Amino acid sequence: MRKLILLLFLPAAFALASCIGSEHKFSAQDLEIINSTPDSLLKIYTTDNPLEMEVLRAPSYNLTKKELHSEAFQKLARRMVYTVSHPQVDGLGLAAPQVGVNKAVVVVQRVDKEGQPYEVYPNISIVETSEEMTVSEEGCLSIPGEKGYVDRYVIIVIEYYSLAERKMVRDTINSYASVIFQHEVDHLDGILYTDRSW
Ligand SMILES: [Zn+2]
Repeated sequence: MRKLILLLFLPAAFALASCIGSEHKFSAQDLEIINSTPDSLLKIYTTDNPLEMEVLRAPSYNLTKKELHSEAFQKLARRMVYTVSHPQVDGLGLAAPQVGVNKAVVVVQRVDKEGQPYEVYPNISIVETSEEMTVSEEGCLSIPGEKGYVDRYVIIVIEYYSLAERKMVRDTINSYASVIFQHEVDHLDGILYTDRSW
């Protein structure tokens, strides 16, 4: 998971990624996961468990503004960061469906920023991509022990809800981190890197 190697560049058509649509509320099951044994690692769902695979394959939905400023969301975000950055897990990114919550939230390690912080991006979608592509070697916390090569866009524009600004904002990612964003945003559409790998 930590080894994402940029190998070569290939031309590709300009594309718009799919957007996450309607808003859904935290379900009782979501809240059970979020509130379970606080301050411990969240269980990471894996593809070898059929019930967990259903969650990994299901689409994730945007949170309402009220929910984004709720205690439940803050706890989910905090616990996702704690889990993905924990030495036992040591991932570059994590999407909420990977911990059993089909909500549009991802955590990405900003390997392009000073100190390489883990940051939380709710209601995220990729709204624009470069023509230029790269190949990354990827793994996934939900598919332990495997790796594969995936074509990814070099530059992407993300749109997400900024908790600090309390509104949707856009950001251009033109570094290595763009590959991590593409992998994590795929999870919100139920797409695994193995669907794209060669
Ligand atoms: Zn993954």
